[in-house]
Amino acid sequence: MGAQRMKRLVLVGGGHAHLFVLDALARAQPTDIEILLVTPAVFQGYSGMLPGWMAGHYTQSQCQIDLRPLAQLAHADLVLDRMIGMDADQRSIHLSGGRVIEYDLLSIDTGSETDLSRLEATGKKLIPIKPLETFFQVWPQILAEAQQAPAYRLAVVGGGAAAVELALAASHALTRASTNTHIDLVASQAGPLSSHAESVQRRITRVLSATGIAVHALHGVGAREGIALSDGTMLRADRVIAATGARAPRWLSGCKLALGEQAYIAVDQHNRSPSHPEVFAVGDICERVDITLAHSGVHAVRAGPVLAANILAALNGGIMQSYRPRPRSLYLLACGPRYAVASWGSWSAEGKWVWRLKDWIDRRFIRQFSDLSSEPAT
Ligand SMILES: Cc1cc2nc3c(=O)[nH]c(=O)nc-3n(C[C@H](O)[C@H](O)[C@H](O)COP(=O)(O)OP(=O)(O)OC[C@H]3O[C@@H](n4cnc5c(N)ncnc54)[C@H](O)[C@@H]3O)c2cc1C
Repeated sequence: MGAQRMKRLVLVGGGHAHLFVLDALARAQPTDIEILLVTPAVFQGYSGMLPGWMAGHYTQSQCQIDLRPLAQLAHADLVLDRMIGMDADQRSIHLSGGRVIEYDLLSIDTGSETDLSRLEATGKKLIPIKPLETFFQVWPQILAEAQQAPAYRLAVVGGGAAAVELALAASHALTRASTNTHIDLVASQAGPLSSHAESVQRRITRVLSATGIAVHALHGVGAREGIALSDGTMLRADRVIAATGARAPRWLSGCKLALGEQAYIAVDQHNRSPSHPEVFAVGDICERVDITLAHSGVHAVRAGPVLAANILAALNGGIMQSYRPRPRSLYLLACGPRYAVASWGSWSAEGKWVWRLKDWIDRRFIRQFSDLSSEPAT
């Protein structure tokens, strides 16, 4: 890096935490710094509202954030491409279009990939939930296919909150569209929502059963016909939606950054790489070295203001803040119609009011980064 030129800050991915960083940069207006935002799409889809979009409660534009005005206010140049590798020792990242970008300071918020390793035999029937941009395009095709078929079968694979919400949203939408669809939820041996309290599992099991979704607490692997369960049953499926949990992107293996036990980017309490302090990582792509943290939107959002402060501190000099997760996180699980289940540690609740609370929180998040004349994002 020549001493003459401006410092370059590169933000990769328009994920949750980078929205806070862009907002903070727009307000701080740091001088003598070139800022680049690398993102494959100008719209950042918000996963929390995706089930509500499938169920027909939102339009697509209501569940996404346009990164262009935010980038403009932050004086960040948009680079519409995908990072496919990096050389942390050389301080450079590699993009799918062939461009190599050097940086002085780098922050990565690109999320995780869906683990498809056991489902690949399903071939073209398989629809991973990520990237969200692709899922937004494919779901209307599934609805149209189901409307034309005399009998349609959809399998959703995964036992976490995303899989449960997707199965319930699909059921609501396919019923409203007057299709004759059977839905299977393949939730592995542990069953749905095994990391949540028993009371939450009971509530969700009741909702799934009332909706007519067949729940299989068994391992499933992909097959040409659909999903082969570990008890020998073959679940025939026209389409298989994979919400099978997070996996670290493969391109991380050669990037020369220290990686954690699960092969994500290792970070300390400041979301900073212990091997390369000029690199920050946040959200699903990172793994804390000091504590165990679930890969969830809650942490990607809450770490956002801390990351923003730390990037400004790295640019201007200053004290780094630590991201300290709360002992419990509130999860609001959409159930298809305007009804939701709340999960917070051992406490749970359900009802239309829970959905109204979720709707308010989600819309407020989108508004925070769309109405740019508002107060600083917190
Ligand atoms: C249906 C569904 C419902 C969910 N509900 C909840 C919930 O209620 N509560 C909760 O806590 N969590 C929930 N999650 C999990 C949550 O979505 C993730 O944990 C969260 O999105 C992670 O945020 P992130 O900022 O790390 O990445 P993301 O939100 O995935 O954002 C990453 C961004 O980086 C971009 N990108 C990806 N790869 C590259 C690349 N190579 N180069 C450049 N840019 C790239 C993507 O286009 C995207 O814009 C849900 C997930 C799903 C799928």
